[in-house]
Amino acid sequence: MTKTGYEGGAPILGEGLALDLMNTYHAVRGKPADGIASPGDATAWTLQLADRLRASGAPAVDDARLLDADADALRALRSAVRGIAGAVVAAQRPSDSDVDVVNRLAALSPRWTSIAWAADGATTTTQAAGEPTSQVLGALASDAINLFSGADAERLRLCNRPGCVLFFLKDHPRREWCTPACGARVRAARAYEKRRSHREPAL
Ligand SMILES: [Zn+2]
Repeated sequence: MTKTGYEGGAPILGEGLALDLMNTYHAVRGKPADGIASPGDATAWTLQLADRLRASGAPAVDDARLLDADADALRALRSAVRGIAGAVVAAQRPSDSDVDVVNRLAALSPRWTSIAWAADGATTTTQAAGEPTSQVLGALASDAINLFSGADAERLRLCNRPGCVLFFLKDHPRREWCTPACGARVRAARAYEKRRSHREPAL
């Protein structure tokens, strides 16, 4: 099986599966962009996350090939997860319909943990039933449930750079941006504004 590199353009920050799904809705030069717009991009994005998905309840991820309906479901899940994330960040109650979508997709593929003994002791593996694409959707929805119900929920933030739509987990008191690149652009814009206001004093 060949793994295709993902070329859909969405940043993969690696801070969590649900976060990476949210961030497939991103912005390119201030315009909204969809990194999983086609079944091909949705499949390539999924395979790019294969190692993490395999460990998180989608053991058959390598066989996942998302068709139109699967890509629609993936985008519906993203929309619901972004909706809930927006509500969480604003300390509001998420909409019932967003919550229903996440719960419905989490139930697509039952997951359980099995144990085995190797030479150096016990190891556990997450197993799952269902088709590969159901496993992927189920694992992503379950990761979202874990995110919103766990300790990380209070670290969830929307990037502070105007026009950026990415979510991240605040892992440092001064972190306000999704990536160092966004922070650098904000600082550059502030420096430009400062120089300009020096040149053109307000009357
Ligand atoms: Zn950003």
